[in-house]
Amino acid sequence: MDKTRRSFLSGVAVCAGGALSTGCATGAALSQSKGAVSDVSNISRLRPGGSINSNDPWIEIDAEAFRNNVREVSRMAGGTPIMAPVKNNAYGLGDIVVGPLLASMPEVSRLACVRVSEGLALRAAGVKKPILNMSEVTEEEIEELVLNGIEITCWLDDAGERLDRVSKRLGKPIPVHFFIDTGLNREGMPYNRALPWMKDLARRSSVKVAGIYTMFIHDIEHDKVQLARFNQLIAEARKENIPLGLIHASPSYTTFYLPEARFDTVRSATALFGLYPDANAVSMADLKYVWRLRARVVRLEQLQPGETVGFGPKYTVEKPTTLALLPVGSTDGYPSSAVNNCKVLIGGHLYPVVGSISSAHTIIDVSEKPDVSVGDVATLVGPDHKEIEPRAVAKQAGIGHYALMSRLNPLLPRKLV
Ligand SMILES: *Cc1c(COP(=O)(O)O)cnc(C)c1O
Repeated sequence: MDKTRRSFLSGVAVCAGGALSTGCATGAALSQSKGAVSDVSNISRLRPGGSINSNDPWIEIDAEAFRNNVREVSRMAGGTPIMAPVKNNAYGLGDIVVGPLLASMPEVSRLACVRVSEGLALRAAGVKKPILNMSEVTEEEIEELVLNGIEITCWLDDAGERLDRVSKRLGKPIPVHFFIDTGLNREGMPYNRALPWMKDLARRSSVKVAGIYTMFIHDIEHDKVQLARFNQLIAEARKENIPLGLIHASPSYTTFYLPEARFDTVRSATALFGLYPDANAVSMADLKYVWRLRARVVRLEQLQPGETVGFGPKYTVEKPTTLALLPVGSTDGYPSSAVNNCKVLIGGHLYPVVGSISSAHTIIDVSEKPDVSVGDVATLVGPDHKEIEPRAVAKQAGIGHYALMSRLNPLLPRKLV
């Protein structure tokens, strides 16, 4: 098993990134993850809190599916370059794996993140293309971002004074994107008082205006109103000779439904990850699922009627039954509500999840076709069968596809296939 494991793990980028990646990213270890990680000893060191063994489940990242989705989004965007947000640990899939993959595609001209640790992890993982951090951060963090060639966002009233201080320390102007709130009322300088604020920032020697952007609420009529507000602000700024840099606005929803919002680059993410903005969009593009959750069978056991399975016990066997144990559970991101609702694919056959799903274990009933062996690869989630597609598993488990993805454990190894 050790040998299989070794060959399996070559080419695996581990240490999932996101919040966890700071420890990883800043260490020397990450410089090794630029290419393939080729030795298990490296992986153990890369991975916080433990060594890899044959019991590890893993997440597969499908490069070809990502390539397909990038092409589809690019087509929906009429060829406008894509700024790919890989925030929240690339929506759960692992930013230091997905980030470099997306950045390697010609349609993707830049990446975006929302946490300082994510931007730094992307740089440490070898991403050379421009990166925008899409949140207001502290002065120390601005400094760290700038030193790593990451563009920053500002939208707070006092941004100017802070930028002055950081710029003075660094001895150079700070590349800044203005984030304008046109109606989401989440982050951003409100559009109706943005002009004097932008004018003030733009005239400071501490500021190099690199861009201006807004975010829509995903309602076509409302988004059109927001777009009109954004356009008006841009027109007024131009009249006042305020430099604007890169203009961007469009997440996946408006990339599909509002071509007037494309501007210089679209900021589409979820569509790249295989999620349609809504049910109607399914007929507009052919997006593929980009990930799998997999594990190996570690135990097979025959049970006699009357024997119970798992804690509680929740489940009593009524006839002679063959059970298989998978070393993957709810803390890995496989929802505990999948029990009795979901199936697992092994060698082309679907097997029901029975008993209960615990933090690191799932039990399946393989009695119906018991030609399963220890070591066989089980796919719990993936595009390989209708019933285990991410959307289907999410639905069966009573959550959304996005939630299913974003709860995947950052500690699981990621394998790029
Ligand atoms: C998350 C995010 C996006 C991407 O939106 P999708 O709907 O995932 O395409 C774009 N812009 C901002 C500011 C975001 O926070």
